[in-house]
Amino acid sequence: MAEPVDLPSRLGILPFRNKVLLPGAIIRIRCTSPSSVMLVEQELWQKEEKGLIGVLPVRDTEAAAVGSMLSPGVGNDSGERSLKGPADVLDSQKQDGKNQQKLIHWHNRGVAARALHLSRGVEKPSGRVTYIVVLEGLCRFSVQELSARGTYRMARVSRLDMTKAELEQAEQDPDLILLSRQFKASAMELISILEQKQKTVGRTKVLLESVPVHRLADIFVASFEISFEEQLSMLDSVDLKVRLSKATELVDRHLQSIRVAEKITQKVEGQLSKSQKEFLLRQQMRAIKEELGDNDDDEDDIASLERKMQSAGMPPNIWKHAQRELRRLRKMQPQQPGYSSSRVYLELLADLPWQKGSEEREIDLRTAKERLDCDHYGLVKVKQRIIEYLAVWKLKPDARGPVLCFVGPPGVGKTSLASSIAAALNRKFVRISLGGVKDEADIRGHRRTYVGSMPGRLIDGLKRVAVNNPVILLDEIDKTGSDVRGDPASALLEVLDPEQNKTFNDHYLNVPFDLSKVIFVATANRVQPVPPALLDRMEVIELPGYTPEEKLKIAMKHLIPRVLDQHGLSSESLQIPEVIVKIIIQRYTREAGVRNLERKLAALARAAAVKVAEQDCMVQLSKDVHPMTSSLLDERLAGGAEVEMEVIPLGVNGQEISNTFSSTSVLVVDEAMLEKVLGPPRFDDREAAERVATPGVSVGLVWTSFGGEVQFVEATAMAGKGDLHLTGQLGDVIKESAQIALTWVRARAADLKLSAAGEISLLENRDIHIHFPAGAVPKDGPSAGVTLVTSLVSLFGQRKVRADTAMTGEMTLRGLVLPVGGIKDKVLAAHRYGIKRVILPERNLKDLAEVPSAILAGMEILLVKRIDDVLEQALEGGCPWRQHSKL
Ligand code: ADP
Repeated sequence: MAEPVDLPSRLGILPFRNKVLLPGAIIRIRCTSPSSVMLVEQELWQKEEKGLIGVLPVRDTEAAAVGSMLSPGVGNDSGERSLKGPADVLDSQKQDGKNQQKLIHWHNRGVAARALHLSRGVEKPSGRVTYIVVLEGLCRFSVQELSARGTYRMARVSRLDMTKAELEQAEQDPDLILLSRQFKASAMELISILEQKQKTVGRTKVLLESVPVHRLADIFVASFEISFEEQLSMLDSVDLKVRLSKATELVDRHLQSIRVAEKITQKVEGQLSKSQKEFLLRQQMRAIKEELGDNDDDEDDIASLERKMQSAGMPPNIWKHAQRELRRLRKMQPQQPGYSSSRVYLELLADLPWQKGSEEREIDLRTAKERLDCDHYGLVKVKQRIIEYLAVWKLKPDARGPVLCFVGPPGVGKTSLASSIAAALNRKFVRISLGGVKDEADIRGHRRTYVGSMPGRLIDGLKRVAVNNPVILLDEIDKTGSDVRGDPASALLEVLDPEQNKTFNDHYLNVPFDLSKVIFVATANRVQPVPPALLDRMEVIELPGYTPEEKLKIAMKHLIPRVLDQHGLSSESLQIPEVIVKIIIQRYTREAGVRNLERKLAALARAAAVKVAEQDCMVQLSKDVHPMTSSLLDERLAGGAEVEMEVIPLGVNGQEISNTFSSTSVLVVDEAMLEKVLGPPRFDDREAAERVATPGVSVGLVWTSFGGEVQFVEATAMAGKGDLHLTGQLGDVIKESAQIALTWVRARAADLKLSAAGEISLLENRDIHIHFPAGAVPKDGPSAGVTLVTSLVSLFGQRKVRADTAMTGEMTLRGLVLPVGGIKDKVLAAHRYGIKRVILPERNLKDLAEVPSAILAGMEILLVKRIDDVLEQALEGGCPWRQHSKL
């Protein structure tokens, strides 16, 4: 390609209409006009060696425009004279074959070309000969003279390109070197861009290295789609520097246009695909929603949630956190997993009382006292302590006194005292039951990573009351346990610590919540199970059980009015006299508190309500008013059994009923009605006497979470191998107590005259069985020691135990009686059973101070040091062997 061409002085000329063949370019033309066919035939086809022809650009114009047209080549860089040939008339070589009369301007410079390929064809049916020629541009020439040969033109030409020597010299020119470097850089860039698009440009890169730069310029420009004028000016750029700079400019322009085009394509493509994708997804979403019938507008929903969050008054850092979560929620589709959990979480954040609290009223101690007195009978010391607590609160509202913890058996008024505190302080009241809570997450919530996670009970309670300063009752704090799921007590420690609860961290909430404005009150049945650290944060206020007299007062003053009210009755429709309440207390309930008493009274009220309601019917139907027993009531009473049911306030106006009823009669509960409604009495004073009628049974006093209880111990012996059987769901400690008791009795058998002197075994050929009745209730503890010994001695000595005597006390192997706990409750329990004498360890004397004096007045308390004293007091007729006994 680069070899020098021997340019002849004359060349056959092929006019190239409005186009330019540049050196190095290859074109394929179809020659159909007679002049061009002749040219090809004579100059190329018929020549043996490969001939050359000159390709000369011609500009044709419509005849009308000719006057304004100038021949190109004017002002070219070489300064050579351009040929201003006369306007010729040339037959067109257009394919349509129409010979149009056109004025043509020959350009004064052209390119010599050689035929790379020639093919001849004959058109049918005209028989016209045509040629297809592939031509390669070789070198520039200038036309000296144009002449006609037959139908085509011949030109006298002179070479324009430099000779090899000239070229070599010119290449030394630093300007040219710089220009060629610039051109190559641009060309390289263009190739790289094209390379990314097509894989075939590899060959072009090779060209770039092997072909001289001035030829490269022509080759590159030839491949661009540029205007005819530009092509001509390129053809006219004979000077190498001019050619290179022109080519560089064109390459750069081409580069630019490629870049811009690419950018636009990318932009358009990106926009299209994004919007198309969104459109498609929205369509799908709509279809899914329609299918699910879920047409409510989530956008609106989220906007209302945001409004709610804004008005929740969250602290700034929590608000930021909430907003982050809300942004996440916005990006989610409602069907997406995690959407609903995220939503529920935000709802919680919006619902929590970050700022909102009940209006804090100045505490009026007198009103508070009146309120406590009005709600509760007795409990003087407890009420006094509560008033003190409130007084401190009044003087120093931010002082964090210890948390009050009411301890006592069920039904003694712990919960209702706490709610009275809330009422006195004008605060809302929340009860959180901790009974059976073993999982720390119950207090602190589950982390949100868990499925079904939820906040802890405290946060849940605060959400329910919607104020941040309620009175929270931690009910049954002694019933929390701990297992592998953590220790709820340790979480409670944080809750109750005024230093830490300012930033209480619920795992679910995951942001701190200030609990410092909350007033905590706790309740427990027993103190022992409460972890010491927790107990340390609380002030224990014990509520002992009530005496029968207190119960009577509570019933008359508080329970009956409340029960009547709950059932739509009044004292004009139903009267429960004191004697009847006393009977209920003694024979139908045996409890430390008043819960069962309240239930029995409610049962009476229900029965009366039926009667009143029926009476009401009768009045309306016949106006024939006469007191008679209701058939419904009779039916129910005939069953004899007490019917336990929920208190359902009547839907009718209680006042109306009572008015109607009062016009007839007042229903006064008597013993007969009592027995009909509540059934036969459950307890009587004779129980102990009946049960200890045979030797081997003794009466003990135990302590349970329900307060004190009377516990019988039965022992019996039978033929066997000397084994000891223990039944009644006993724990290890009580089993050991039984062993100790038996050992002591065996050791002292001779002294006690239970066996002949010298005979040590009481058990020879005999099994002993000790049973603790109420077999279904688990029992444990050491305080049955003295009771066990008494029952064994009674069994072996065949002497009955006194029915009016109950006992409690731990015993040692050597027969000493050690003090035990729960004395007050035990004495009260004995009192409830109608037991008149109680044997207690001497060292428990101090505990008697807690027992109400009214109870003590009617009882004989026997304090003992040793087991012999117990036997002396407990067995009927005393212990006749006592004087012989030696330790
Ligand atoms: P606790 O929480 O101790 O188990 P509650 O507070 O639930 O017991 O009391 C049970 C019922 O007995 C409540 O209706 C309560 O009003 C009533 N009650 C208990 N003690 C008294 C009292 N001293 N005066 C009036 N009502 C009482």
